[in-house]
Amino acid sequence: MIDCANHPSIPAAAVCATCGRPYCEQCLVEVLGQRQCGPCRDRQLAVMQGYAPDPAARPPVWRWYVAFCVLMALMYLAVGALGGVFLAFADQMGPEMSPLEARIQGGIMLGLGLLFTIPYAIAPFLPRARWTWVYHLVLIGFCMSSCACIPIGLPLLLFWTKPETRAWFGYA
Ligand SMILES: [Zn+2]
Ligand SMILES: [Zn+2]
Repeated sequence: MIDCANHPSIPAAAVCATCGRPYCEQCLVEVLGQRQCGPCRDRQLAVMQGYAPDPAARPPVWRWYVAFCVLMALMYLAVGALGGVFLAFADQMGPEMSPLEARIQGGIMLGLGLLFTIPYAIAPFLPRARWTWVYHLVLIGFCMSSCACIPIGLPLLLFWTKPETRAWFGYA
């Protein structure tokens, strides 16, 4: 027999519908037809009364973030494609660039372009979890540091660190 999480000597009557931990009759309360423990009841009441962010509500910033990822992925893809063009036409670049220079520059652009396309391209499809919140944060920070897009990155960063966004990713 499993004991109540609050009372080690009393057998549990049921598990909390939210956190799943076992509790005795005394510790469980019914909220909207579900039996919950005290802390979960308090949290749900706070959400219902608007004091706490609702973890189930998708924050508006998500749509902007997805658009940002698409934009960044396309931009790096374009850099890679331009690198490919440099490589393909290295011998015909004209007098201002030697074939070797064109190949080196093309190779770097192709490599880095494709390398940075991947993290932005997969970001919108990642599951919602604490580590992906950090992953997205790194991508936003990377954009700000690498390509001087602070006007895009800074507002995104401000909304990203808001409690409702964090709650949606599983931070209590
Ligand atoms: Zn609970
Ligand atoms: Zn109890």
